[in-house]
Amino acid sequence: MGQVTAAKPKSKNKTHKPVTFSRVVDLSHTLHPDFPAWFIPGVEKTFGTKTFSPPAIVEVERIMKYEEVKINLNKVSYWEHVGTHMDAPSHFSEGSTVDQIPAADLVLPLAVIDIKAKSTSDPLALLTLEDINAWESKHGPIPKRACLAMNSGWAKHVNTPKFKSLNGKGEHRQPAFHIDAIEFIKKERDVVSIAVDTFSFDNLHSPENDVHYAWLGDERWGIENVNNLDDVPAVGATVVVGQPKIKDGSGGPNRVMALV
Ligand SMILES: [Zn+2]
Repeated sequence: MGQVTAAKPKSKNKTHKPVTFSRVVDLSHTLHPDFPAWFIPGVEKTFGTKTFSPPAIVEVERIMKYEEVKINLNKVSYWEHVGTHMDAPSHFSEGSTVDQIPAADLVLPLAVIDIKAKSTSDPLALLTLEDINAWESKHGPIPKRACLAMNSGWAKHVNTPKFKSLNGKGEHRQPAFHIDAIEFIKKERDVVSIAVDTFSFDNLHSPENDVHYAWLGDERWGIENVNNLDDVPAVGATVVVGQPKIKDGSGGPNRVMALV
């Protein structure tokens, strides 16, 4: 290879507190060919000087069939950023790829901020610094090195047009993080991961992907399209992110579980 790569930071999660739990909540959606994404397969998108034509969300080719050879084996192809999935730092920076994220960082205290009171009437609602202040006055500071999730109630719309809430110009509308909240949890709370129940950390309030660049560019990561946040407490659960360890991956579908 002959290529020098910068040393990647090791996990700062030196010790985990003992975890006890009585149930496991599945925070992943089932991924399927019609799962909503920020692109439409076959419809070209332009980024800077590059135009690309997005392929199918997920394709399953049956290589071996049980009914024929008593073995089932599929070849599956999908975009990294579809379904419930991780955005690794490298998605919007030259930071870590999925395989470089320390395993100890994939098990974190989970904090959930519910913004349904405003997102129900506003598809462009943002999780703001004020929401964090209000949450902390009730639950105490966000735990150190946590995963902070936004519960906008969007998960239940996943197979309906409401999930994209297209406006007259065909632009997506969905709740997201405010950049001021992101700067605060980065600098003041050392949050490791963010999570949203929509398909992006950004929305039309930050069309240049400010949150993606600020968060992933700071060697942090996140999860989009999480499910079932109504079934976990605001604080006290532990999240476990089962992330496939694919070399040089910028993210990818995963199984996310909350231990409650
Ligand atoms: Zn993504």
